[in-house]
Amino acid sequence: MATPMNPSKLDPKKELKKFLTLIKRKNPGEREFLQAVTEVAVDVFPFTMEHPKYFKNKIFERMCEPERIFIFRVPWMTDDGRIMISRGYRIQMNSAIGPYKGGLRLHPTVNLSILKFLAFEQIFKNSLTTLPLGAGKGGADFDPRGRSDNEVMRFCQSYMTELAKYIGNNIDIPAGDIGTGSREIGYMFGQYKRMKNEFVGVLTGKEFSYGGSLIRPEATGYGCVYFVEEMLKLKEDNLKGKVCAVSGSGNVAQFAARKLMDLGAKVVTLSDSGGYIYNPDGLDDEQWGYLMKLKNVDRGRISKFAEKFGLAYYPEERPWKVKCDVALPCATQNEVNGEDAEMLVKNGVQVVAEGANMPCTPEAIEVFTKNRVLYAPGKASNAGGVAVSGLEMAQNSIRYSWTKEEVDKKLRDIMKEIHKQCVKYGENGTQINYMKGANIAGFVKVADAMLAQGLV
Ligand code: NDP
Repeated sequence: MATPMNPSKLDPKKELKKFLTLIKRKNPGEREFLQAVTEVAVDVFPFTMEHPKYFKNKIFERMCEPERIFIFRVPWMTDDGRIMISRGYRIQMNSAIGPYKGGLRLHPTVNLSILKFLAFEQIFKNSLTTLPLGAGKGGADFDPRGRSDNEVMRFCQSYMTELAKYIGNNIDIPAGDIGTGSREIGYMFGQYKRMKNEFVGVLTGKEFSYGGSLIRPEATGYGCVYFVEEMLKLKEDNLKGKVCAVSGSGNVAQFAARKLMDLGAKVVTLSDSGGYIYNPDGLDDEQWGYLMKLKNVDRGRISKFAEKFGLAYYPEERPWKVKCDVALPCATQNEVNGEDAEMLVKNGVQVVAEGANMPCTPEAIEVFTKNRVLYAPGKASNAGGVAVSGLEMAQNSIRYSWTKEEVDKKLRDIMKEIHKQCVKYGENGTQINYMKGANIAGFVKVADAMLAQGLV
């Protein structure tokens, strides 16, 4: 595309179409990446045409192109001596406002499209946190489920042996994501330290004993619930007594459920890739404690949870058929489709806030918007995780640890601020378009930094 002329003379709809055609041509077959870019472009592209400095400098087009991508072989050995070859990735997406920052996903479905979508979303999310964090994402098609600790360790060491060439505490600071919890972060940190012979905060999500932040494990789930509290506050409402459907049973789901319970809400569902459990009375403390052991120590399936407590279990299904006031999808991308959304609306859902990244399809979002359901996109509502990762980096830099209360307060304040930014840019008469608000607020900060730094 040649340098654009004065946008006031151009038709925004035609220009958006032209832009999306170009992005599709450049990234063929990358379904999730194209979905994420389209969702943002619908709000941001017309905005850039109203603000010619962004349009003329092709700032949004530049944001859609990763600064660099590494793809590499990760060989490792099983306990019985078989050789396995995984494919590792790191995407350094945007460093306009800080060093690259974003998680590592270990899951058999990992591919370039999924990691590019996650890295792209990370630009806006990290900008919204108010912290100086650039955007990145990485991972591998390795599946830690069913692997022994030793196999996971060998994989992590091999992955880090290559990754260590590209990261650093002032360059790129990876964290956890699906399949990467404190065990995996520990093995990777150990290998990095051994190779570089330096003890620095090159990864976040570390255990507290060696430089982790208190509240980091809780941060994404807690943050998501704090965001819902802010949404309800605007309606002069709160979470007390609200029936909540949560999907997933990993890190984000566990702590979203915990905070919902602490605030007097009823958590009626949990799930994993095998199916979902339903407890119409809401989880109690004993059940939550068992969930933590089941998923983090025994690494078992959610069906076992239903067995233990005599609850209904629905194999191969997702929890969106149940009656609820609040739905928090906390498992994975595209887990709520248009039909699920229709069902949720029929059952009276008032708020949907994404704990996972892009769990709602475009069709689902359309259904929520049409029916005036309050809908929060993950880049706003799940930003608490990366925000506390940013706080972990700050604590590592000053070689000091803040108390639980201090970190929790900072997290709460950040979620309030993100909500405020969404309202500022997304208010539209009587309704708040949180998606538009998050997209534009996230864009402006990074865009201004890119403009200031010239054509790089
Ligand atoms: P975990 O690995 O701890 O848990 C993931 C959960 O989602 C598991 O219950 C898993 O079930 C389920 N799941 C994964 N893939 C699928 C699938 N294809 N279909 C159905 N269920 C699935 O990951 P996290 O809790 O950390 O992450 C969950 C989501 O939140 C992801 O989208 C992640 O990108 C996002 N996120 C995470 C942050 C963090 O701080 N951890 C920060 C911001 C966003 P099973 O075990 O059966 O695979």
